Amino acid sequence: MTIYIATGNAHKLDEIRPALPGVDVRLPSDAGVDFDYEETADDFIGNSVGKALALWHAVGAPVLADDSGLCVDALGGRPGVLSARYGSPDGVTPLGAAERNARLLGEMRGRSDRSCRFVCCMTLVLSRDRFFVIQEACEGVLLEEPRGSGGFGYDPLVLLPELGRSVAELSVEEKNRVSHRGRALVRVSSLLGSLVAAP
Ligand code: IMP
Repeated sequence: MTIYIATGNAHKLDEIRPALPGVDVRLPSDAGVDFDYEETADDFIGNSVGKALALWHAVGAPVLADDSGLCVDALGGRPGVLSARYGSPDGVTPLGAAERNARLLGEMRGRSDRSCRFVCCMTLVLSRDRFFVIQEACEGVLLEEPRGSGGFGYDPLVLLPELGRSVAELSVEEKNRVSHRGRALVRVSSLLGSLVAAP
């Protein structure tokens, strides 16, 4: 089965591909589509469904969209859906990950309530009227300083207490076992399996 992924984020693809064995995972550009979706919803599900349907209309084949981000409880769930644009001076142009992370640590300096979670909402569109939405989360604690060099985005800032390591200290396989995206992908994979068995 071929599925187009509604993202230009290479890091997300690196995590999605190994989690969907047997699926021919493709980029919008593989279908000659220059995909750029403006995320305007105030929740993950709105952006995820919007992105997925927009790409489905563009490629006319099954698509999977991932809208994700980091929610910090002490900040009322921010940066949340605005994770990619957090700290952006014009609200559009993203900062580099290191600068964005330093800014978040600065905003959280001195705060003791450091609970946070990564959230990932995935929408699988199979046809115009047939789609499935899954949202998963991965609980963590915001570190005081970045740790680790793997992963991407906010990974160096988030400690997974049960592992005693930051997300950036995990391999792709380890991250996929516990992460918001990995958990959502397990559901997507089993859904795809059940659809093959009973389409
Ligand atoms: P979007 O889903 O394209 O709106 O962007 C989500 C943003 O959230 C990314 O640019 C990252 O900064 C952050 N993010 C999403 N998933 C992860 C993750 O697995 N690790 C670290 N940061 C993430």
